[in-house]
Amino acid sequence: MSSAAYDWLHQSLNTIHKAHWHRSVRSLDGMAGPVMTCDGKPVVNFASNDYLGLAGDPRLAAAAIAAIQTYGTGSTGSRLLSGHRDLHRQLEQAITNWKGTEDAIVFSSGYLANIGTISALMGSRDLILADQYNHSSLISGAKLSGATVQTYQHGDVADLQRQLEQQRSRYRRCLIVTDSVFSMDGDLCPLPEILDLADHYDCMVMVDEAHGTGILGTNGSGAVEYLGCRDRPLIQMGTLSKALGSLGGYVTGAAHLIDYLRNRAPSWIYTTGLTPADTAAALAAIHIVQTEPQRRDRLWQNVRQLQRSLQTLIAESTTNCFTSLLPSDSPILCIEVPDAATVMHLGQRLTGSGFLVSAVRPPTVPTSRLRLTVMATHEPSHIQQLVEVLGRLAIAGLPAT
Ligand code: PMP
Repeated sequence: MSSAAYDWLHQSLNTIHKAHWHRSVRSLDGMAGPVMTCDGKPVVNFASNDYLGLAGDPRLAAAAIAAIQTYGTGSTGSRLLSGHRDLHRQLEQAITNWKGTEDAIVFSSGYLANIGTISALMGSRDLILADQYNHSSLISGAKLSGATVQTYQHGDVADLQRQLEQQRSRYRRCLIVTDSVFSMDGDLCPLPEILDLADHYDCMVMVDEAHGTGILGTNGSGAVEYLGCRDRPLIQMGTLSKALGSLGGYVTGAAHLIDYLRNRAPSWIYTTGLTPADTAAALAAIHIVQTEPQRRDRLWQNVRQLQRSLQTLIAESTTNCFTSLLPSDSPILCIEVPDAATVMHLGQRLTGSGFLVSAVRPPTVPTSRLRLTVMATHEPSHIQQLVEVLGRLAIAGLPAT
C-alpha cells in the first residue's frame, strides 16, 4: 500500500509491538487431537477447545462426508431463502431435546449467535448488565444493540443487585448476560443467584454455554443442567465448535423467543446457513455426547490430575515465575504469571519442549496467564510430562531482562 492515508497502520502496529501485544498465528498440522504437529515438530496439545476429542472422531467425519455427498458443500443462501435443509431442523430438534427446552435456532458461529441475539432483543431504552469478564462476542452484541451497558464485578451477585436496585426502574427491559464457564478463567457464574435476582427485578437472563456444552451436567448439556436451572426462564446460547468438534452456534429456550430471533436476528437472517457438513458433524457429536458419558468421566479424571499437580507445583515453587492457579470448575486451568513478557517467554519455552499452551495477555485478559485446556483424549503421561516441564521452568525462574 503506498497511499499516505494508510501510514497510521505502521504506527499503530509499532505501539502493539512495544506493549508485547502483537499476535500472530501458528500452524498446527495433522488430525485434531492431543498430539499434533507445530512447525514440523510433534507437540502435545493443551491449547484446544476440543474437550471431548470429537473434532478428530471418524464418526463426525463420516457424517460430514455423507452430508456433503447428499447436499453439497455450501448451503447456498440464507436459511430464509435457499439455505434451509432438513438437517438444520434435525440439529435444532436435537439441541432442544438435549437441553429440555422448547425450541432452538442454529447460527453459523457462536460469535454470530451472540451478536445477533443481544442486538435483536435489546434497544436504546434498555439496560444490559454484563459480568466484567464476559466473552468479546457478548460485549460486541451489547454495544451493537444500542442499549445502556454496565458491567458488574466478576461473579459478584451483591454488585449486580446494587446496580439493579439503582438502575432497573429507569429502563424498559433489562438483560443480565454472562458466560456460564468463563473462557479465560475457567470458573462458573453464580447462575441460580443471578436467576433469583432476575425474577425479583423483572429481567431476562442470557447465559453463554460455549465452554459448558458437552462438559457439565449428567447429560453433558451444560452448566444450566449442572446447576439445576433447566426449568428457569432463560436464554441459553452455546457453540458447536468446542466440545462438539464442529462449527456454529445455537440459542435455545422458549418457543416464542426462538420464533422472534428467526424474525429479528440480523446475523441469522442475512448470512448463509451453516454448511451441511458442519450441521451433520454437530448432530453426530450430540448423539455421541449423550450416549458416551465415559468420555466426560475421562475428561474430568484428567482435569483433576492436572489441577492437583499444578496446585502442588505452585505451592512448592520457590521462584516468582508462577503467581497463582486461578480457581476453576472446568477443563480450563490458568496459571497467572507476573507480566506479558514472561508469559510469552514461557509459552515459547513450552512449545520448544513439545507442549502447546495458550499464552494470554492483556488486553484480552486483566492479567497475563498460561491457559491450559484438558481433553478427554489426553493420556495421564501427557499430563505428567507437562507438569515436569512446568516444574523445570518454575525452578529456572523469570528470564533476565
Ligand atoms: N462465547 C464464548 C464464551 C467463547 O469462548 C467463544 C469462542 N471463543 C464464543 C462465544 C464464540 O464462539 P465461536 O467460536 O463458535 O464463534
